[in-house]
Amino acid sequence: MIMKTRFIPDGKDKLKTLPIHHHQEAEYLYYPITNARCPEGETCVIDGQDVKVGELIGTRRASFFEQPIHATVSGKIVAHEKKYNEYGKLVNFVIVKNDFKYEMHESVYERSDEEIEKLTKEEFVDIVKEMGLVGLGGSAFPTYIKLNTDKEIDVIVANGVECEPHLISDYEVMRNNPGWVIQGLIYTLKTTKAKRGVIAIKKKYQDIKAILNEELLKYENSNIEVVEVGNHYPSGWELDTVKNAIGVNIPQFELTANYGVLVFNVSTLASIYNAIKFRRPLLERYFGLSGNGVNNYNFRARVGTKISDLVEIAGGYIDEEIPKVLVLGGPMMGSNTLSDDVVINQTTTSMIVFNDEEYFEEPCIHCAACVYSCPVKIQPVQIMNALKSGDVSALEMLEVNKCIECGLCSYVCPSKIHLTEYMRQSKQFLREKGN
Ligand code: SF4
Ligand code: SF4
Repeated sequence: MIMKTRFIPDGKDKLKTLPIHHHQEAEYLYYPITNARCPEGETCVIDGQDVKVGELIGTRRASFFEQPIHATVSGKIVAHEKKYNEYGKLVNFVIVKNDFKYEMHESVYERSDEEIEKLTKEEFVDIVKEMGLVGLGGSAFPTYIKLNTDKEIDVIVANGVECEPHLISDYEVMRNNPGWVIQGLIYTLKTTKAKRGVIAIKKKYQDIKAILNEELLKYENSNIEVVEVGNHYPSGWELDTVKNAIGVNIPQFELTANYGVLVFNVSTLASIYNAIKFRRPLLERYFGLSGNGVNNYNFRARVGTKISDLVEIAGGYIDEEIPKVLVLGGPMMGSNTLSDDVVINQTTTSMIVFNDEEYFEEPCIHCAACVYSCPVKIQPVQIMNALKSGDVSALEMLEVNKCIECGLCSYVCPSKIHLTEYMRQSKQFLREKGN
């Protein structure tokens, strides 16, 4: 049977009905000094020092950019120590003991609209840089670099599609803080001199469309419209979103700015609003616990919160005797983690807990479902075979580097072959061969 599908169960209906628990009781907050994009870093605080919300406590460093680290609670620095991160790597953390006063640092105060009006593009970009903002859709790409483009920008697309199953963090931002998203978009339009803004959401999010349109009534001549894109997966993939929202076809590996388009995740725009208006770095994220192995729960929690604390508040795991699979992010593109003793960082929005089920890969039955479903039109099964025979030129010819690791090929395969993993390994293999 050929099963071509881009429509997958999204597992969000129940989550969306759950109340949001605002977790402010974390006793200790943990901040990694390095991360996947920044392999170096240091702190500028010492043990015993008092800190406040929004205070600079360190800097992460990559080869071409730096990312400041801010305290998300007030309290005392109690330790600098090594701890495992979400990838199972031992890295340096700085730890703050919460005093539960949530006192703001002196640097965090409101900017008047007149001051904001006068900000130059350079000043705007500097603020976003100093606040350490990154792409919150998962890319963690530094936002100031994207904003600092010298290309002429026609449209800014606010990506609110969030097509991965089980993820509702962007949904919650649009539902609860629509003004932050719209105001962030207005600021961004002004600084890039883009002519119009488009907020792209799934067609089935009619509730969100109504909320955003209601909010837009407060802004005259904003040149912003809410546009529906398909409910399919991966409709939130940047190039798919742009194509379906504004009809611009951007080839893979090209910068959207070269086509007069900039794309920001809606949560990133909300963080831009807070940075510009209140000089506030990203302090919190909406975070969902879901899956059949845990009590499902929605949180708003500080960056630096331990996920194991949230699991405990949710009432723990279900069927504890059954081994669990923990996934950070969505089930299609998320990554497995070995332990819940990891912390919420800027791009952490979900942990899914599955009761582990044993399944066995069967031989390929040549149904071609993986080929027909692939959004970038490559041939996963041929690529897997080329990898198994170590055929570098075939892997190049089959264009494995176009793979966006969306997970659809694994999802549709009736033989349960983990094709996406083969795609990752193939890309890694080509990199090692210098291609
Ligand atoms: S994971 Fe890669 S190969 Fe598989 S469907 Fe997605 S883009 Fe295609
Ligand atoms: S790898 Fe799976 S989906 Fe692809 S052709 Fe073989 S059986 Fe079908």
